[in-house]
Amino acid sequence: MRLDGRRAVVTGGSRGIGEAVARALAAEGCRALVCARGLDAARELAEELGGGAEAVACDVSSAESVERLAVAARDAMGGVDILVNNAGIAPSAPLEKQTLEDWERVFGVNVTGTFLCMRAFLPAMREAGWGRIVNVASIAGKVGAPYIAAYSASKHAVLGLTRSAATEVATEGVTVNAVCPGYVDTPMTTASVENITAKTGISPDQAYAFMRDASPQKRLIDPEEIAYLTVCLCDPRARGVNGQAIVLDGGGVQT
Ligand code: NDP
Repeated sequence: MRLDGRRAVVTGGSRGIGEAVARALAAEGCRALVCARGLDAARELAEELGGGAEAVACDVSSAESVERLAVAARDAMGGVDILVNNAGIAPSAPLEKQTLEDWERVFGVNVTGTFLCMRAFLPAMREAGWGRIVNVASIAGKVGAPYIAAYSASKHAVLGLTRSAATEVATEGVTVNAVCPGYVDTPMTTASVENITAKTGISPDQAYAFMRDASPQKRLIDPEEIAYLTVCLCDPRARGVNGQAIVLDGGGVQT
């Protein structure tokens, strides 16, 4: 297996894209540490994955919580070779109705959470001379769209963080990249459909159709497709891919 013996932390690994990533990394031989705020779902997945997989409760927006995660990872696995910063939230509202509290919550999880986890796990990777960081951003990190100003700004910030970190570690065997999905079939998207339906009165089918039509392929992306790309970026043979923000949306965003 391509990643035999590697130790991976997946934030937001208990459902959706993170769950698919944890499954794919485990299938490639990784020992996975699944983290989410809700421990039960993370633990259930870790037990299913086997291979020494563990679950840790962590709120990535809290520095203390991430510090505890780093200690737990060291205690459980002795170190971390792969970090997938996937935990994220995506509330939506027109800009003038966006509360400061929501803005700060989005940045706290999506940006500060990514920063805190990178800061916690990068030193060990640099010391080992090998590491992979994959940040799950979004096409909203490349282009804007109505009603997602905070989310889009946060994902643009994640790309800036990714690109800067990539240049810092370029000579040390560590790569830092981002994946930028379009709409993915996950509980987050189900929640978005419910939100659109409640706020606009259109039917769930119409809301799903709007999301599918955003892609030239007229479909939602499967979480497993993001997991596949993530595994590819973690492959030792991908060592030259660094500081990239790779779009996976069926061809809609081409920058
Ligand atoms: P889901 O809402 O389905 O899952 C989110 C995961 O993150 C859960 O495991 C959740 O567990 C965890 N999580 C949420 N907040 C925190 C937190 N503060 N600390 C730690 N874990 C947290 O989301 P998706 O799988 O759809 O999305 C995953 C990532 O992909 C996000 O960054 C999202 O922005 C991005 N993305 C999603 C797209 C989509 O269409 N779904 C498109 C493009 C990007 P718990 O609640 O227990 O903490």
